[in-house]
Amino acid sequence: MTNTDLLLNLAPERLVQVALERGIDRYPEGLTYAAPEALGPLCPGDRVVVPLGRGNTPTSGWILAVHDGSTDPELMSSVDPLRVKSILKKDGTETRLPGQVLSLAEWISDYYACPIGMTLASMLPAAVRKGTGRVTRRFIHLAKDAPDPESLPRKFGPGRRRVLEALHARAPEDGPIEMNALAEEAGLKSKLPIKALLEAGMIGETTRTNVQAAWLERSAALATDGDDIRPNADQSAAIEAIESRFEEGFSRHLLLGVTGSGKTEVYIRLIKSVIARGKTALMLVPEIALTPQTASRLFNRFPEAKIALLHSGLTQAQRNQQWTMVAEGEAQIVLGARSAIFAPVPDGDIGIVIVDEEHDGSYKQDQAPRYHGRDVAIRRAQLAGCPILLGSATPSLETWHNTVDLKRNTLHRLPERAPGLSLPNVQIVDFAEERKAFKDRRVHLLGPRLSSALKQTLSSGSQAILLLNRRGYANYIACPDQQCGWVMQCDQCDAGMVNHRAALGGGGRHHDFVRCHHCLTEQRLPKQCPLCSRKITVFGLGTQRVEEEIRGILAGTAVAEQIKRVDSDTMRGADDFHDTLDRFGRGEIRVLLGTQMIAKGLDFPNVRLVGVINADTALNLPDFRATERTFQLVSQVSGRCGRGEGAGLAIIQTFQPDAPAIRLAAEHDFESFAREELKERRRFALPPIRRMARLVVREAGEDACLDFSGKLARGLEPMLEEGVSITQPEPCAITRIGGRYRMQILLLADDPRKLRSVLLRARRNGVLTPGERVAVDVDPVALL
Ligand code: ADP
Ligand code: ZN
Ligand code: ZN
Repeated sequence: MTNTDLLLNLAPERLVQVALERGIDRYPEGLTYAAPEALGPLCPGDRVVVPLGRGNTPTSGWILAVHDGSTDPELMSSVDPLRVKSILKKDGTETRLPGQVLSLAEWISDYYACPIGMTLASMLPAAVRKGTGRVTRRFIHLAKDAPDPESLPRKFGPGRRRVLEALHARAPEDGPIEMNALAEEAGLKSKLPIKALLEAGMIGETTRTNVQAAWLERSAALATDGDDIRPNADQSAAIEAIESRFEEGFSRHLLLGVTGSGKTEVYIRLIKSVIARGKTALMLVPEIALTPQTASRLFNRFPEAKIALLHSGLTQAQRNQQWTMVAEGEAQIVLGARSAIFAPVPDGDIGIVIVDEEHDGSYKQDQAPRYHGRDVAIRRAQLAGCPILLGSATPSLETWHNTVDLKRNTLHRLPERAPGLSLPNVQIVDFAEERKAFKDRRVHLLGPRLSSALKQTLSSGSQAILLLNRRGYANYIACPDQQCGWVMQCDQCDAGMVNHRAALGGGGRHHDFVRCHHCLTEQRLPKQCPLCSRKITVFGLGTQRVEEEIRGILAGTAVAEQIKRVDSDTMRGADDFHDTLDRFGRGEIRVLLGTQMIAKGLDFPNVRLVGVINADTALNLPDFRATERTFQLVSQVSGRCGRGEGAGLAIIQTFQPDAPAIRLAAEHDFESFAREELKERRRFALPPIRRMARLVVREAGEDACLDFSGKLARGLEPMLEEGVSITQPEPCAITRIGGRYRMQILLLADDPRKLRSVLLRARRNGVLTPGERVAVDVDPVALL
């Protein structure tokens, strides 16, 4: 035998590319393993266990591709048969990832610069990967040479005899019988006789492992609409235009509709027609735990449909159940937050992808892979060959640019509120002026106009929503002496500490503490300035302080106890929020006060007043999207009122009454705002005109951070290409978080493909290794 013959004999029968759930940066292609024939058929999307590293640690992963001598002779001959390791086993999961989900993973890994295994791990719920809630059932059949029960010796155990009799009595077409059912049929008290027969080889078994399916309990309690709604002309035009493109495959749409214009009605009608075609609708909403009304409305309007919900409020086992049902092709509607875009709807089944409130920041994941749910949704619709519908009253400038400048999306407008509803009257209040009305020196967060409107709204029986986008009691803790100038900062972060107040029993007693909103460390509130021993003061805004003030304003009235603060400090989970909204819907709560949690998507007809305590909180952030975000927040929260009979009133308090973002939001004029803001972005060559990737270097030492970011920037320079520019490393707006210094490098490109190719080249050359030290954020939405 020649050497070559020997190698050919040893050559693996099949090779597979496997993506491991570890942070190994192997681009989109994964690691190569041999797959012995004995494992049976293998397909991309199957889950397997492979040996990893020197210790051959068994590690789970997903098959990305399968090659054999006929498809890939070159690859087959390029691997060293003596070094390639073999797959250990299939991991027992019967569900396989649909090809389109796998392609999506490869695209994300590539575009967002994240190792493929890490990408897959973050796409799939942990419950699915661990198989939580999975049960293995054993099915028994007679062995080929099983003895005839008649011929058994007299002293053969009676239990075992009855088992064989029961099996013999079954018709062959019934197939194997589940072990518990067999035990019952044979009248056994324990399964020992069955096990004994298995051991003796007289019977055989097969196992089936799966998740016991069950749909979630439905609650339509928060729904306010019914099936009797007749779409108006604008809604009908949008519905028909999108339906007319169903046959065409992939098509892109933007539904621009002011708040309360009935966008949800358009989604519902389109979903109905998708289901009627035997297909599945995939719909994303921002933070579903925060938008329970949407789920209720779907449950209400689709009493017969199979609706799968995928969100963080489910138990592990529930998640796996929902996921499995989707994978089995059972779901007609899949509704969920960001990660629901990875729902394993079988290839060919998706009829439409809908992204509601597409501008919402929660669609962006803030850990690797830092993908944007909306952009992944567009990609998924493209792979699925179906329409994608983005909806918003305040589209992101990315989407708007794609629509009006690049003409990629077909625009459908709903310029008016649904029949019977009118847009709220929005009044801008110059808070600097208002403050002059107060004769005392106390802090006032609600000016005379807002507080009298609040009293009036409540005494007329209506409800109010008040927004302040800042948690806690006060956000400055400082020395009153300007000469001293001490301000309490977090030890670990470049950020001020925030004063929080915790109630102690009843009677208004409380205890003060301070918390860092970045690393979450807490301390006692100091009494004295550590530098000069003066008594410290706290000032600035926080929802707790607003609550205190409103309670003061409403003291003695009938509604004094019907105030509820909603922020991540008071809402422990989805249930708390759901419960609060339930009570608000029933009128038991009259004033909702909170952070942006209450600015999103709520639809309660009795809300007549919306108050924005301070519209400037977002305006002054050092981020080029600050104005865009302010416009969105003011428009969205104003849109929560006037959704029933009678007009709504929104009062916006601000120190910058002339700021265009605030003025245009008050006029409900998205298109003018977007036109002006896009001009600015073009002038400064910022996204969405150019595409951005942000690299954040994080190091425990300041010098190390400087050194490493400088080295990274120098390494990247030769990787650039025409049309791509790079900034010198600079400190991030928040220079330190959790004890680590942060420097950023920005890459800007006139085309996303160039950005992608630069990043890929840098990864392949080992210049850039995304991970703990360097966070890569492609198309970042926040620059702090
Ligand atoms: P959006 O999602 O655009 O904010 P919604 O879908 O929540 O708007 O609609 C606002 C309200 O108007 C809902 O209570 C809805 O039931 C109602 N509505 C929507 N379309 C119509 C219609 N054609 N006729 C009557 N009421 C409608
Ligand atoms: Zn901190
Ligand atoms: Zn001091």
